Amino acid sequence: MDIKGLTIKSVHRGLIKKDFSSQELTKDFFSFIKGKDKEINAYLYLCENLALEQSKEVDINISNGKGPGTLGGVLLAIKDNILIEGLPCTSASKILKDYKASYDASIITKLKKSGSVFLGKTNMDEFAMGSSTENSAFKITHNPHDLERVPGGSSGGSAAAVSADMAVASLGSDTGGSIRQPAAFCGVVGLKPTYGAVSRYGLTAMASSLDQIGPFTKTVEDSAILFKEISGQDYMDSTSVSMSYGDELLNPKIEDIQKLKVGIPEEYFAEGLDKNVGDKINEVVKDLEKLGIKTKKISLPHTKYALSCYYIIMPAEVSANLSRLDGIRYGSREKAKNLLELYEKNRDFGFGPESKRRILLGTFVLSSGYYDAYYSQAQKVRALIKKDFDKAFDPNGYGIDVILAPVTPTSAFKIGEKTNDPLSMYLSDIFTIPASLAGIPAISIPIKTQTNADKIQRSSALSQRKSASLPVGFQLIGKHFRESDILGIGQFYEKLYN
Ligand code: GLN
Repeated sequence: MDIKGLTIKSVHRGLIKKDFSSQELTKDFFSFIKGKDKEINAYLYLCENLALEQSKEVDINISNGKGPGTLGGVLLAIKDNILIEGLPCTSASKILKDYKASYDASIITKLKKSGSVFLGKTNMDEFAMGSSTENSAFKITHNPHDLERVPGGSSGGSAAAVSADMAVASLGSDTGGSIRQPAAFCGVVGLKPTYGAVSRYGLTAMASSLDQIGPFTKTVEDSAILFKEISGQDYMDSTSVSMSYGDELLNPKIEDIQKLKVGIPEEYFAEGLDKNVGDKINEVVKDLEKLGIKTKKISLPHTKYALSCYYIIMPAEVSANLSRLDGIRYGSREKAKNLLELYEKNRDFGFGPESKRRILLGTFVLSSGYYDAYYSQAQKVRALIKKDFDKAFDPNGYGIDVILAPVTPTSAFKIGEKTNDPLSMYLSDIFTIPASLAGIPAISIPIKTQTNADKIQRSSALSQRKSASLPVGFQLIGKHFRESDILGIGQFYEKLYN
C-alpha cells in the first residue's frame, strides 16, 4: 500500500471505506520506517508491539460497528520528552538513558482513548535545548529534503518523521520555537498552542512558564483535528485552562476569516532575514489579500530584546527543573567516595555540553547579587514584549487579529554549521521566541508558491537550486486561545493550492 502523503483525514476515510485495515496500515508503516529511517534517524525507539495491540483494537471497533473514531488508526510519532507508560523516555539525554515511564502523560491518555496508534519516540535536542537536534546524546537526525542539513530543533525527529512519511502526524514541544522552527525546516505544519491550552502533565519540564505540547501534521486541517483532541483542562496541570474549542476550529467560514485583520510587524523584516525567505513571505501577503483578508504594517518595538530576555528566563527555569536529575534514581551511576562526588560525577557524565551551559547560566542569573540585575529585569522586559502584542490586538491600538511573520531567518542550515557557535544557533529562534514569551498561539505553515517551481527550473547553479528548493515556512501568531483564527486562515491558504 502507498502510505505517502496519508493524512489524518485520509486514514479515517480509508478505514471507513475498508481500503485497508488498521493492522495492515500499521504493518506497512513499520516496514517503511525500518528502511527509510536508516538515512533520516528520526526515531530513538519504535514500539511495534504496542502499535499492533492498538491497531487490533481499532479493527475490532470497526467490525463491531463502533467506527474508528476521529483519530482511530492514525499513526503518531511522539517526542521523547512525553511519557508513554512502559516505554523509554530519555529526553535524548544520557542521564535518562535507562528510564522507562511509569505513567502516561495526560495527552497520551487522551490519544489512547481516541484510538490513535503510536509508532515510537522521536529524537530531539537534549531536554529540548537546541535548534538542530544535534544536541541529542544519541544520534543526528537528517532533514528529509536534504540529508546534509539539519531538520531544526528541538523537535527535529518529530518534524522529520512526518516530512518523510514515517508518521501521519506527530507531537513535539515548543518552549521558544521547537515546534515551529523544525516544521519550517522540514516543510510541515507545526502548531504551538496558547500557554495553558494543552496539559503539560507528563512532559519532561524544560522551562515551565513557556513549555507547550503541540502537533506536527501534513495539513493545517489535520493540525486543527489533532489540536482539538489534545487540548482541554487537566486537573493534573494547574496551568491548564478550561477552554473548549468548538466547530470553528474544524470548519472555519470564509466570511469570518475575511473579517480578520492581519498585521505585518516591521521588526521581523529587518537585518538578518534571508532575501529568499523575505520574498516568499511577500507572496503569502498577496495570497492572503487574494482571500479577501486585509493586511497592515505594525510595529512591535520590544522585539529586539526578546532573545536576550528568553536566554535569562529560560535557563533560570532549566536550572531549577534539571536540579532533580542527579543520576541516583535514573541513568547509570558513577562510582564515588561520598554523596557530593556522586552528584558531581553523575551530572558531569549525564548532561551534555548545552545542558551544562544552560544550568550554569541559569544558576548564575538566579544567584544572590545577580537576581535583580538579570532575572527580575528580564521579567520586566517579558511584560513589555507581551504589552507590544496586547497593543497590536487592542481595538484602540493597531486593532489587528493575527500577525504574519517569518518563522526563521533562513531555511535549514548544514549539519555542523553552527555547532561551535551557540550564539548563531540561538539566533535561529529570533522570530519564534516573542510569541512564546507572551504565551500566545502561533503556527508555522509551509509556503507554497506557484512561481517557485519555474524559478528553480530556470536557475542554473546547483547550490542555488538546492537552497531555493528547501522548504520555507510562514508564521501566523494569534490572540490568547484564538487558535481558530490562525488555523482558519491557514486552512483557506491551503485551499488556494489544492
Ligand atoms: N531552540 C530554542 C532553545 O534552544 C527553543 C527550544 C524549545 O523550544 N524547546 O531554547
